[in-house]
Amino acid sequence: MKFFMIYHLTLDPHHPEFKAWLSHIKKSVRPCINHITQPTQAIFDTVHDIDLEHPAILQVEEKNQWPCLTDPAFLTHNPCSMTFPLFIGGPCSLESKEQIAMTIEALSPITSYIRAGIYKPRTNAHQFQGLGSDGINIISEIKHTHDFNLVSEVTCASQIPALSKICKIFQVGTRNMSNGTLLKSLGKCDLPVILKRSMCATYDEWLQSAEYIIREGNPQVILCERGIRTFETATRNTFDINAIAFLKTKTKLPIIADSSHGTGLSALVDAVGMAAMTAGADGLLIEAHPQPKESLTDRQQALSLEQCQSLFKRAKSLVEFLE
Ligand code: PEP
Ligand code: MN
Repeated sequence: MKFFMIYHLTLDPHHPEFKAWLSHIKKSVRPCINHITQPTQAIFDTVHDIDLEHPAILQVEEKNQWPCLTDPAFLTHNPCSMTFPLFIGGPCSLESKEQIAMTIEALSPITSYIRAGIYKPRTNAHQFQGLGSDGINIISEIKHTHDFNLVSEVTCASQIPALSKICKIFQVGTRNMSNGTLLKSLGKCDLPVILKRSMCATYDEWLQSAEYIIREGNPQVILCERGIRTFETATRNTFDINAIAFLKTKTKLPIIADSSHGTGLSALVDAVGMAAMTAGADGLLIEAHPQPKESLTDRQQALSLEQCQSLFKRAKSLVEFLE
């Protein structure tokens, strides 16, 4: 049985974006594909020779399967530029300059990667939705005095230009894992993207979402397990530790663990985070707040900055021990 991989280049070949797409594909995707199969090679050759006067549809024969860019046969090594294990800590939402300054200062001995939501996707439309552009101003100001790498969620493609000036890593939340339009836009960026698992996605659906980003030219995807919906109600979600071990056998993309949303209860975040590291996670994404009880969002799962620092320290030692 034969399948065909068909690249429908929906852009008008005369549009300036089309040329940008071509150079992106050639610059970003190609270097991370070591094992270039004959058909894949053909794509690049055709892209190189493409006649802009004719319809830009490339049809390439593939052997027995759809190409899967997350597969180790294509992506033969971790494509992300930062050092792993990666420890990211900070508040669910950015609330003030003081709050983020305290967070950066407390976590700086162990990590420079700080999370803080500026645009918050909330279940309840009437609750705090994040500081938005005021939050962007706060981060721009604090960058003059503090050295840190911001990780923040993008909920809509229109936020990308402003956020890319202040973020080191973008985050796609559970509610947007299947938002193809957003994923494609992030695929055209140069920043790494943390792709959280949808609360009801299978591993395959999750990897297929990663494909949306990679095929646009950005291979720097970091998977993040953050718990799934099950029949259990005692915890906010059920952290799926299988996901860590299973995906290690399926892809070279790094996978990190968010045991904050995975449990929803601050008393469980440490134990489940350590368990995920034991299962092979490449890092942790943890919610921590200078005054956890005062947190405007996700208060029940917030660690104190000291607890977060302690977890990261022990997780680091654990990785060294396991190695
Ligand atoms: C968050 O990280 O604060 C968040 C909203 O996460 P999730 O998308 O996993 O619910
Ligand atoms: Mn949160």
